[in-house]
Amino acid sequence: MPSIHRNTIQVALPVPFADGLTYLVPDSISIESICVGMRVVVPFRNKKMVAIVIATHGGDFTKNLKAISKVLDTSEFITPQVLRFMQQVHRYYLMPLGEVIFTGVPKWFKNVENPSLPQEIWWQVKERLTQEEIKIRFKSTKQQNIFKYLQDNGPLQSRQMSHIEKGASSHCNALLKKEVLIKSDLCFVDAHPPKNPDFILTKDQGVAVKTISSVDGFEPFLLDGITGSGKTEIYIRLIKELVNNNQQALVLVPEIGLTPQLFHEFAKRIHGRVAVFHSGLTTIARARAWEKAKLGEIDVIVATRSGIFTPFKNLAMIVVDEEHDLSFKQQDGFRYSARDLAVMRAKMENIPVILGSATPSLETFNNAKLGKYNWLRLRERTNKQDLPSIQVLDVRAHKMQKGLSKVVLQQIDAEIQKGNQALVFLNRRGWSPKLTCNDCGWVAECDECDTYVTYHKHINRLRCHHCERVYGVPEFCPECGSQKVETMGVGTEKIHVGIENSLKDTKVIRVDRDTVKTPNQWQRTVDEIKSGIPCVMVGTQMLSKGHDFPNLTLVVIVNVDNSFFSLDFRATEHLSQLMIQVSGRAGRKDKIGKVIIQSQCPEHEFFKLLLGKSYEDYALHELQQRAEVGFPPASYMAIIRARSRDEKTVEAFFEYIVTHTNENETVTIMGPIPAPMYKKMGQYQMQLIFNGNDRKSLHQSLSQIVSLLRNNKICNNIIWSLDLDPINLS
Ligand code: ADP
Ligand code: ZN
Ligand code: ZN
Repeated sequence: MPSIHRNTIQVALPVPFADGLTYLVPDSISIESICVGMRVVVPFRNKKMVAIVIATHGGDFTKNLKAISKVLDTSEFITPQVLRFMQQVHRYYLMPLGEVIFTGVPKWFKNVENPSLPQEIWWQVKERLTQEEIKIRFKSTKQQNIFKYLQDNGPLQSRQMSHIEKGASSHCNALLKKEVLIKSDLCFVDAHPPKNPDFILTKDQGVAVKTISSVDGFEPFLLDGITGSGKTEIYIRLIKELVNNNQQALVLVPEIGLTPQLFHEFAKRIHGRVAVFHSGLTTIARARAWEKAKLGEIDVIVATRSGIFTPFKNLAMIVVDEEHDLSFKQQDGFRYSARDLAVMRAKMENIPVILGSATPSLETFNNAKLGKYNWLRLRERTNKQDLPSIQVLDVRAHKMQKGLSKVVLQQIDAEIQKGNQALVFLNRRGWSPKLTCNDCGWVAECDECDTYVTYHKHINRLRCHHCERVYGVPEFCPECGSQKVETMGVGTEKIHVGIENSLKDTKVIRVDRDTVKTPNQWQRTVDEIKSGIPCVMVGTQMLSKGHDFPNLTLVVIVNVDNSFFSLDFRATEHLSQLMIQVSGRAGRKDKIGKVIIQSQCPEHEFFKLLLGKSYEDYALHELQQRAEVGFPPASYMAIIRARSRDEKTVEAFFEYIVTHTNENETVTIMGPIPAPMYKKMGQYQMQLIFNGNDRKSLHQSLSQIVSLLRNNKICNNIIWSLDLDPINLS
C-alpha cells in the first residue's frame, strides 16, 4: 500500500516491549504545538495512557495507526537534557525507554486527566526560639509542643504532627497568627538566616573543599573520609557557594530515614530553598518538587534513589552520600544504580560529582585507585577522638544469656550507669531464626520458600521473612513425634528480653521492622534516642546508618559469622562496611567509643585485616583477590534471573537463551543454576551469570539476548529480569 503523508509522532510508554511507538496526530491537533519531551494521551490496549513524545516525525502513515487524543503540556515536560540522559540510561541498562522514563516521572503526571496540582500546606518555624522564649511566648502547652517539634523537625504537614498533639492544624494556624510560623506549599525551607559554625575546617576538609571547588566541568571525586571526619560540612560549604551563584545541587542519600537529618543540617546552613524528594512523600509533594526544580525555584534537593531523574534548570553538582550503600541499587524491575547514574549524569551535564563514604564500594575504590576518580582522603575525626576501639570476643569461651555474653552485659551495664547509651546490632528480627527438633534434627521450613521460618514470641507464631507467611508452633515434631521441639539461635526480640531480664530497670528500645512500622514511629524512636536518655538500643540494619547519637559509647555486634560461609563473593565487603558503619555510630561527640564483636571464629583472617589495619588496607587486599579470581570490579558482570510457578518453564527459558546466544570469547557464562533460594513465594528461581573483562563485548551479548527475548513466547508465564552490575548473587 502506498503511504500517504500524515502527521505522526513517536512516543515512549511504560510498557515492556518497545522503545518507541508511532501514533497519528489527528487534524484537530496542530503538529506545531507538539515538541519532544511533552506528554500526550494515547490509546493503548483499550486504555488511555500518558506517553512522552520522543520524536515529532514518526515515520510513514499506515492504515492501522491510532491517533493521540490530547496534548497535556504547552512546553517540554521532560527537558531535552534529562531526556538525553534517560536515553543513555536506556542504552546502558538495555531497558525499554518508556520504562526508564516513567521510573523517573512522579506518578501524579501519569494521570490522563492532567488535573492541576492541589495545594498542600507545610509548616515551619520562622525563627528559632530557646526553651525559655517558647515558654514565655506561648501560654498553651499544646502550642509549645507543636512549636518545639516543628523547630526540630519541620517543615511538616499537620498530619505528621498528629502524634504530638491532636488538632495540630488549628494550633499551627494559631501560631501563624502570632507570626512565628511560615506556611508554604512545599516541603522546603527558604532563606533561613544561615548560621556559621564556630569551628574552622580541618586540614583535610580544607583541601577537599578547595580541590572540588576549583574544578570546572565534569570530574568524579571519591570523598573517602572515616566516620566523623566532617564530610557533611564539605558538602555544605560547596553547595553554599553554588547556591550563591544561583546554581542547583542534587544530594542523593540511601534511605528515606536519612533525608530529614541531612535536610535539616543543610537548611540550617544554606541560604536557599532546600527540598526533599523521596517515595515517602505524597505524590503531590513529589510532583511539586519536580516542577519547582525544573523551573529553578528550588536550589537543593535531598533525594533518595529515584531523585537522580529530577530535571533541573541549572544543576551544578551531584553528591552521593554513603555511596557504598546497597539501597542505591534498585533491586527489582528496572535495576539501576543511582550512584552509577549520578556519575553518568554528571558527565553529561559536565559538572562535578562527589561520592562520599567511610567505606567506599570496591567499584568506586578501584576507580579511585586507577586514577579515574579524584581521591580525597579524610583520616581525622573532627572531634579529634580516635576511632572506637574494636574487640573481637570469642563467644565459645563465654557463658551466654539469651545471645549476649556475660562480659558484654556487664559492659553495657557500666555504660548505662555512667548515663551513656549502648547499641546491640544484629541483622535478624524475631525471637530466634530456627525451630528445631532435638531428637531428629527436623527444622521448621516455609512451604512456599526454601528457607527456615523465624519464631516470634510475642505472637507465638513462626513467620517466613521472605513471604511473611505465618505458621502455628507445633507441639510435637512433625517428623518423629518428639516433644523436644525448641528454638535455636537469637534474634532482636530475644536479645531485647535477655537484656531486660539481666539488667533490671534498664530501658531497652528495639528498632526493627516489627517494632517500627511507619515513618512516624521511626521519627518518634529517633527523637527518643536522641534525647540522650540512658538506654540500650537493639536493632537491625535500620540503626546502622548515618545517625548521630551523641551519647552512644558502646556498640555490640552479634552474629556476623554467617558471612564467612556465604557463597557471594561480596559478602565480606558488605560485612566490613556494615561493621565499620555500625562502629562509627559510637563516640561521636566528646566521648570515646568502644565496639565489641561477638564471634565464633575470632581467628578469621578477615578480622585481622580489617581491625589490625584500616578499611583501605582491607579494600586493597580484597581488590587483589577479586583480580585473581576475575570478579568485579576486575570484571564486568550481569545476571539474567527468571522465576515461575512451574519449574519446567524456567528451565526451558534458560535452555532457549543458552542455545540461542552467540559465541563470545570474552564472556564466561555460568549456569543456568538455581538461585541461592531456589523456591521463593511458591516460585522457582534460576539464574544465568555473565562475567567478562570487556564491557562492550558483554554488552553485545546481553543486547543480543534482550532483543531475542522481546515479544518472544518463551517469556510467557515467566518473570525475568536483567541485572547489570549486580550487587549480590541472590
Ligand atoms: P561524617 O559525615 O564524615 O561522618 P559529619 O559530617 O557528621 O561526619 O561530622 C561530624 C561532626 O563534626 C558534626 O557534628 C559536624 O558538625 C562537626 N564538624 C564538621 N567539621 C568540623 C570541624 N572542622 N571542626 C569541628 N567540628 C566539625
Ligand atoms: Zn523430630
Ligand atoms: Zn516463605
